[in-house]
Amino acid sequence: MFAVFETALFTFLRESLLPSRCLICAGGREVENGVCGVCRAGMHPVPEPVCGVCGSPVGTPGTCLQCRLSPPAFDRCVSACLFEGPVREVIHRFKYGRQTVYKKFLARLIYALVSEKGLTADILVPVPLHWSRLAARGYNQSSLIAQELSRYMKTDVRYGIISKAGKTPNQVGLSKRDRGSNLRRVFRASAVAGKTVMVVDDVVTTGGTAREISRTLKDAGAAKVIFVSAGRAVS
Ligand SMILES: [Zn+2]
Ligand SMILES: [Zn+2]
Repeated sequence: MFAVFETALFTFLRESLLPSRCLICAGGREVENGVCGVCRAGMHPVPEPVCGVCGSPVGTPGTCLQCRLSPPAFDRCVSACLFEGPVREVIHRFKYGRQTVYKKFLARLIYALVSEKGLTADILVPVPLHWSRLAARGYNQSSLIAQELSRYMKTDVRYGIISKAGKTPNQVGLSKRDRGSNLRRVFRASAVAGKTVMVVDDVVTTGGTAREISRTLKDAGAAKVIFVSAGRAVS
């Protein structure tokens, strides 16, 4: 009798902690940490060597030409996986399909990355979402990831440290340079003096947001800024 109970309890615990179906495709083959073998094969870490500053897969170790010519305000920017395949699908569902269940999956990707690279911080800060978008979506995806990451890293999340001074105009159709100036002066920050700040986002695309937020944090006195994301779009 006890053995039956014990087996049932074990099965319940195992299935609730580690689902037997893939979180992404619902397939059941070779599921490890909630992801099946097929989906795992489609997830690619950002290929090394990456630039030691911006984290772009530039193919040579050290600091890339762009970071040397125009040093960004962040000290590091690192991303777990290329923004493609299952990772892109998960981020899309998470952001636009209200499937907030993926916050754990994305936070675990980032946690594995920061652990491997030995990155720590005094505080975690999510990339803010303008209130009108927050109202439309109902949640800030970066805040949800930061909350989960906070539990794994045992580091506090601080909200309201970075605020947007205005709504970012639509970035579509603008050149990289115009996107930079488009974002300028839309953020402000407080209460970060002397701190190592880890800024959390779902995906880094042009890097314009990372540069602008980091500049804002450094202007407000942050000692070090590390920008982390689950996905990295590589052009
Ligand atoms: Zn799958
Ligand atoms: Zn670089």
